[in-house]
Amino acid sequence: MVNFICINCNYKFESENPSECPYCGADKFEKDKSAGELLEEIERVLGE
Ligand SMILES: [Zn+2]
Repeated sequence: MVNFICINCNYKFESENPSECPYCGADKFEKDKSAGELLEEIERVLGE
Protein backbone atom coordinates (compact mmCIF):
# COMPACT_ATOMS: atom_id res chain seq x y z
CA MET A 1 0.00 0.00 0.00
CA VAL A 2 1.08 3.57 -0.65
CA ASN A 3 0.12 6.59 1.41
CA PHE A 4 -1.48 9.40 -0.52
CA ILE A 5 -2.52 12.88 0.50
CA CYS A 6 -5.39 14.60 -1.24
CA ILE A 7 -4.26 17.94 -2.67
CA ASN A 8 -7.75 19.35 -2.25
CA CYS A 9 -8.49 18.51 1.39
CA ASN A 10 -5.19 17.05 2.72
CA TYR A 11 -6.94 13.84 3.69
CA LYS A 12 -4.44 10.99 4.10
CA PHE A 13 -5.33 7.53 2.95
CA GLU A 14 -3.74 4.30 1.80
CA SER A 15 -4.32 2.90 -1.64
CA GLU A 16 -2.47 1.14 -4.42
CA ASN A 17 -3.91 3.28 -7.18
CA PRO A 18 -6.59 5.74 -6.03
CA SER A 19 -9.08 7.13 -8.50
CA GLU A 20 -10.64 9.64 -6.15
CA CYS A 21 -10.26 10.95 -2.63
CA PRO A 22 -12.50 8.91 -0.29
CA TYR A 23 -13.22 12.06 1.70
CA CYS A 24 -13.96 14.78 -0.86
CA GLY A 25 -13.93 12.96 -4.20
CA ALA A 26 -11.10 15.01 -5.74
CA ASP A 27 -8.87 13.23 -8.24
CA LYS A 28 -5.55 14.88 -7.46
CA PHE A 29 -3.18 13.37 -4.91
CA GLU A 30 0.42 13.37 -3.96
CA LYS A 31 2.33 10.52 -2.43
CA ASP A 32 2.98 10.91 1.25
CA LYS A 33 6.69 10.80 1.98
CA SER A 34 7.98 8.06 4.18
CA ALA A 35 9.90 9.00 7.30
CA GLY A 36 13.10 7.81 5.63
CA GLU A 37 12.65 10.09 2.65
CA LEU A 38 11.93 13.05 4.89
CA LEU A 39 15.08 12.35 6.88
CA GLU A 40 17.16 12.23 3.71
CA GLU A 41 15.70 15.53 2.64
CA ILE A 42 16.52 17.16 5.98
CA GLU A 43 20.07 15.83 5.86
CA ARG A 44 20.51 17.17 2.34
CA VAL A 45 19.32 20.64 3.38
CA LEU A 46 21.49 20.71 6.49
CA GLY A 47 24.51 19.49 4.56
CA GLU A 48 24.62 22.47 2.24
ZN1 LIG B 1 -9.91 15.09 -0.63
